[in-house]
Amino acid sequence: MSDKRRALPAVDTLLSHPAVVQHGAGHRLKRRALRELLTAERQRLVDETSAVPDLDSLAYAGVVHIEWLSRSRAPSVFNLTGTVIHTNLGRSTLAESAVMALTRAACEPLALEYDIESGRRGDRDHMVEALLCELTGAEAATVVNNNAAAVVLALSAMGAGREAIISRGELIEIGGAFRMPDIMHASGCILREVGTTNRTHAWDFESALGEATGLIVKAHTSNYAVEGFTSTVEERELARIAHHHGVPFMVDLGSGALTDMAALGLPDEAQPYESIEAGADVVTFSGDKLLGGPQCGLIVGSREQIERIKRHPLKRALRVDKLILSALEATLLLYRDSDDIAADIPTLRLLTRSEAEIAACAERLAPALAGALPADFELSQRPCRSQLGSGALPVDRLPGQALVVTPTGERRRRERRLRELEQALRQLPRPVVGRLHDGALWLDLRCLVGAADETAFIQQLGALQLAQATP
Ligand SMILES: *Cc1c(COP(=O)(O)O)cnc(C)c1O
Repeated sequence: MSDKRRALPAVDTLLSHPAVVQHGAGHRLKRRALRELLTAERQRLVDETSAVPDLDSLAYAGVVHIEWLSRSRAPSVFNLTGTVIHTNLGRSTLAESAVMALTRAACEPLALEYDIESGRRGDRDHMVEALLCELTGAEAATVVNNNAAAVVLALSAMGAGREAIISRGELIEIGGAFRMPDIMHASGCILREVGTTNRTHAWDFESALGEATGLIVKAHTSNYAVEGFTSTVEERELARIAHHHGVPFMVDLGSGALTDMAALGLPDEAQPYESIEAGADVVTFSGDKLLGGPQCGLIVGSREQIERIKRHPLKRALRVDKLILSALEATLLLYRDSDDIAADIPTLRLLTRSEAEIAACAERLAPALAGALPADFELSQRPCRSQLGSGALPVDRLPGQALVVTPTGERRRRERRLRELEQALRQLPRPVVGRLHDGALWLDLRCLVGAADETAFIQQLGALQLAQATP
């Protein structure tokens, strides 16, 4: 037994193998990878039936391990889940100009908090404030880490120690531990819920207003719908009631589109300018949902309230860095200047893809996928419905096309084979994430765009490690 282990080569021998020498990694990483490989081999050889691998095989295994060690724990994936703005897969990808701006900011010093005109210290919001004001009609604007942070900061600045009045129908949870009642509590506000789950009236707000009131809040109930016998109070009316009592009115929009979604053939989505027009003092929305920019939370509104928010100590703790601000500025410039916003913002591009275009992609990929699958799987191309994701109405679905892989055979075996398939696709160099539905794996092709990605998808299928069916 120990002899077999002694037959393993030394680290230095493997280091001078041509396959290892050729690899571009540094010496330190190579040595670590080979040491780990040899330790694992020694373990394996404890079992007397194991054979000592030859030098070439070990060197190639070493190269694979070097790759594995230097690989990111969050590799790029193919998002074939059918959810376009997928929080677990990083939400929006950035427009080309935003990527360039971000890269420039990463590589070179920039006038972040520096006024080029006067040579004095400046405010980092200056990069995007004028753009945000132009795009939303607001007087002032600021940016924080995400929309949850925007809501916490705005509530803290305007309502800490006082009552925040909100309709019972809007005490939302949007997942990932964002629950409106908890957020209010964390912000130091006293939650004052009014109305009922399905109906809230203006007089509910009127009668709740008093000495203790800090502000009135409206939250966009983006990820669920109350239908039937319902009634909510319009923003214009809420703003009027709030201002009559001398308190601010805040709207948490969630997604907040900066262009008319309906004009792009998509489900209608509230735009920040509408809330500002209706009289909201503060509107908050996400940067990486329908806007299609980097993760951040945008706060727009009246000069008075935005100044209050900017002065709050939490603002400093929640501020965004130069990379985010640069990417955001470039994205907002597209909203101001682009002749074809649906083509320039990747998220909008994905959402507006036609079913015919997706079907053509499915037809190009189907033969390669069919060829890579063991004989006990069936492949079909079917119409499907994609979701916008990230809090957009789950009932609004976009028509698309999917490649659907269905295992055949007896039920228990079908379940096992489906799990094996799903796992094998996840273990590809660029993992493929689909959606299990109705005893099949659905690969919604809405988010697989462009010849380069199609080729990459097809090429890596050769590495699919899925055993033939065992009887
Ligand atoms: C998504 C959402 C949030 C949280 O935004 P993040 O950018 O994810 O922090 C808050 N409120 C509403 C209504 C939302 O839809």
